[in-house]
Amino acid sequence: MKILVLNSGSSSIKFKLFDDTHVKASGLVEKIGESQSKVVLNNALNNEKFQRECPVKNHEEGLQIVNELFKESGILADLNALDGCGHRVVHGGKNLNAHCLVDDYVLEEIDRVSIFAPLHNRAHLAGIKTLIKAAPNVRNVAVFDTAFHRSMPDFAYMYALPYELYEKHSIRKYGFHGTSHAFVSSKAANLLQKDKNDFNAISAHLGNGASVCAIEKGHSVDTSMGFTPLEGLIMGTRCGDLDPAILPFISHFEGLSIEQIDTLLNKKSGVYGICAYNDFRDIQDQMQKGNDKARLALDMFCYRLVKYIGAYFAVLPKTDVLIFTGGIGENDTLVRQKVCERLSHLGIVLDHELNKEKSSAARMINSNSSKVKILVVPTDEELEIARITQELVSKTL
Ligand code: ADP
Repeated sequence: MKILVLNSGSSSIKFKLFDDTHVKASGLVEKIGESQSKVVLNNALNNEKFQRECPVKNHEEGLQIVNELFKESGILADLNALDGCGHRVVHGGKNLNAHCLVDDYVLEEIDRVSIFAPLHNRAHLAGIKTLIKAAPNVRNVAVFDTAFHRSMPDFAYMYALPYELYEKHSIRKYGFHGTSHAFVSSKAANLLQKDKNDFNAISAHLGNGASVCAIEKGHSVDTSMGFTPLEGLIMGTRCGDLDPAILPFISHFEGLSIEQIDTLLNKKSGVYGICAYNDFRDIQDQMQKGNDKARLALDMFCYRLVKYIGAYFAVLPKTDVLIFTGGIGENDTLVRQKVCERLSHLGIVLDHELNKEKSSAARMINSNSSKVKILVVPTDEELEIARITQELVSKTL
């Protein structure tokens, strides 16, 4: 089956073309709406690149050029030749609680819940509508970051705010990175030769955005991100958990508006807020040079992560495996070492040599004495979206 996976952002479209589970091509439309836009298509079989540098006014024009590059490269005759298109959608809100084929109701609902994730959901919607227009006979599937977390119990997803706020505005924990947590936990089950519905995992997705998820018998029972992707872990530029009373305090004493506070919490905080670097390679480089704020930022990041893993260890009846994924989780040996060292009293014991080995494969890095398996599993959200799309499209054939 030929499946295109689209991740449409406000000024970019990332895409990957699959033939069943094999990647045929990938690419990016960037700087949509600017004068120096660029469209790149990479043939995965021979690494040949096809590219256009020209103004791209909107998502529709972007996808038109992608279609032209597909034809020019001989990779795909036309978008209409696709068997399906899977779209990443960040927020499904309260009603879209499972991945689904796109119809008018789904389009309306994605639009309605865009108040929760305005930048993301509106861009996804533009991507889906463009694909519908360009290839009217192709089935579209919406794959929600929030869907995997719909199994959380009410006492985990409710905030202790007046109940009317939940009833009136659906204010609750939704959780994000669901596609990644689902992918790595099922890959971990495969690697350990276990049934994914018969083992428990704590999955730590550590990238620019970061979240931890407690997974019981294949289902998310709690996760660190909340109503928005701001809650939980300390991230690249996001603060994660805070005492909410700090907000009116800084608003008053720094004279900041709600919008300015929102920017401060999302874009100027996290490890960047502490040491002015948000890439963990730069942070460690700075640590080597004796930058104490860089040391502090890394220690704070690891400590918060340890606290969440400890909390989910308490929540799960038994923890079989701890999974590291995302750019930091997959590559940063120091973060994994610092986190696991603090957790050794829970039976989470790292093999230091295995931890240092560089590899892009899913692998086990615990010592033989560890009660909990520790895995590094490279995430592949696009492959997960392609699989889900194939499954849902096949049901309609
Ligand atoms: P996103 O959340 O944007 O998808 P990624 O999951 O790709 O991001 O993670 C990007 C982050 O991963 C970078 O900002 C950097 O902090 C970290 N990272 C990537 N490679 C390495 C590496 N070799 N060592 C340490 N950290 C790394």
